[in-house]
Amino acid sequence: MAQYYTTMNLKSRFAPSPTGYLHLGNARTALFAWLAARSMNGTFILRLEDTDQQRSPDIYEKALLEDLQWFGIDWDEGPDRGGDHGPYRQMERLPLYDAYYAQLQTAGQAYPCYCSADDLAAERAVQRSAGKAPRYGGRCRYLSAEARAAREAAGMRPTLRFHIPDQGTLSVPDLVWGERHYALADLGDFVIRRSDGSPAFFFANAIDDALMGVNLVLRGEDHLTNTPRQILILQALGLPVPDYGHLPLLLGADGQPLSKRHGASSLRDLQHRGYLPAAVLNYLARLGHHYSATGFLDSVALAQGFALTQISRAPSHFDMVQLQHWQHEAVQSLDDAAVWNWLAPHLQDKVPTGREMSFVAAARANIV
Ligand code: GLU
Ligand code: ZN
Repeated sequence: MAQYYTTMNLKSRFAPSPTGYLHLGNARTALFAWLAARSMNGTFILRLEDTDQQRSPDIYEKALLEDLQWFGIDWDEGPDRGGDHGPYRQMERLPLYDAYYAQLQTAGQAYPCYCSADDLAAERAVQRSAGKAPRYGGRCRYLSAEARAAREAAGMRPTLRFHIPDQGTLSVPDLVWGERHYALADLGDFVIRRSDGSPAFFFANAIDDALMGVNLVLRGEDHLTNTPRQILILQALGLPVPDYGHLPLLLGADGQPLSKRHGASSLRDLQHRGYLPAAVLNYLARLGHHYSATGFLDSVALAQGFALTQISRAPSHFDMVQLQHWQHEAVQSLDDAAVWNWLAPHLQDKVPTGREMSFVAAARANIV
């Protein structure tokens, strides 16, 4: 497998869409990407993929930064602190993509598509009834310049599609799943720019990684199917392709997607319930990654023990009972003054002044 980084220049990132409070699955993704960077003396970037404007109010950006900070994750480049590869909010990066659309079009690797939603639905219906997998058949691939001009003159606003080679196979290495092979003909020419001018998610995501020098992408398994398209785009543009690793889903103890009914689903839920960040760190770091050390580790030790080869392919199950174990460990790792700072807001003057430390000493073993 291609390795674009050495232990000296690894650059990973977390690229959340700030559309809600940070889900524990995404918190684990952030943690693994951060541990990978910190374990190899690399660089860690925070990039906000905020192009879904209706769902990205500012409160979520603020909450996201606060939650990551509470968790103990820091970043070397990001929206709040800048860096050499900014801007770090995708909405501020939109003009950067124009040159890449143009480069693909000039090279004949992208073309405008004027098909309406109805045209495309009809095409898919025909394919399905013939027992074929639905994909764009390439109707607008070879429109003449006149045909395009006529459509533009009629006010039609095209999407921009990537022109997939008709033959060949793409092999896609993955740090967790191993190598997968895709027949190019099955992918179909996909949209990289929507008719309103906005980039397709995977286009902006791939270009940003390349421009920011990211060479390790760790992200959720739900993005596996985006990867072949992203590699094709980067190869066509002559941009570097990062190494990808897709993390298996984080499920509830019952095997269902993790939600509130499992007790907690966001980092903020855990914070509000009094869990210590060190407890959550120790637990999430072990959900899908094997540590040979079984005891409590501080974040430096968690980074030292982290290895991409130790990421598991099996889905992980989030279990409040396990978290409770790590909470106990985390509390025991605090000194008395730190335990007091953690408890004081909840005790509402119940402990007489001067008696704090003896209270902590007596209560410590029973705290969780
Ligand atoms: N914005 C995407 C998400 O939150 C990022 C995916 C990626 O890390 O590449 O799922
Ligand atoms: Zn078309």
